[in-house]
Amino acid sequence: MRRAVCPGSFDPVTNGHLDIIGRASRLFDEVIVGVLINQSKSGLFSVEERIDMLREVTASYDNVRVESFRGLLVDFCRAQRATVLIKGLRAVSDFDYELQMAQMNIGLAGVETLFMPTNPLYSFLSSSLVKDVAKWGGDVTPHVPDLVHEALKARLVPPA
Ligand code: ADP
Repeated sequence: MRRAVCPGSFDPVTNGHLDIIGRASRLFDEVIVGVLINQSKSGLFSVEERIDMLREVTASYDNVRVESFRGLLVDFCRAQRATVLIKGLRAVSDFDYELQMAQMNIGLAGVETLFMPTNPLYSFLSSSLVKDVAKWGGDVTPHVPDLVHEALKARLVPPA
């Protein structure tokens, strides 16, 4: 069985993430979305909330699972018996760091990284930008699933 991991913070999931997850699900038998537990950085949403949102918005994909992980990504891949990482590339600026990570990960554990070019519709999208715009009352409905939009509205009260 060909398994791939789509890792990230997903704080919260955006349409850009979903596009990558959906495309990966058509290329692999199983896709595991790995939500990073980062103890040194608390997000807007808890890891459990991020997982719940991801599970809901990926429910229509039979071969997508959502799990959390801490520590080394390659250890998570090994535990999940996945040999491939899928990373979305938005712009050249993503590439420098991603290349370093990919080379480190293949050296550490033989885990391959496949880069998937972003859909141009989402090339400027990041979770942080969505949070910033939503915080000030901007319309993020084209950029996130409806349930994420509702969760953002409930969580973010525009500063006075
Ligand atoms: P961010 O907080 O920047 O949105 P994450 O750490 O949650 O990012 O990202 C997880 C993965 O999703 C990374 O591989 C990242 O490159 C990819 N990704 C994030 N946003 C997009 C997008 N708009 N289009 C394609 N890939 C994306």
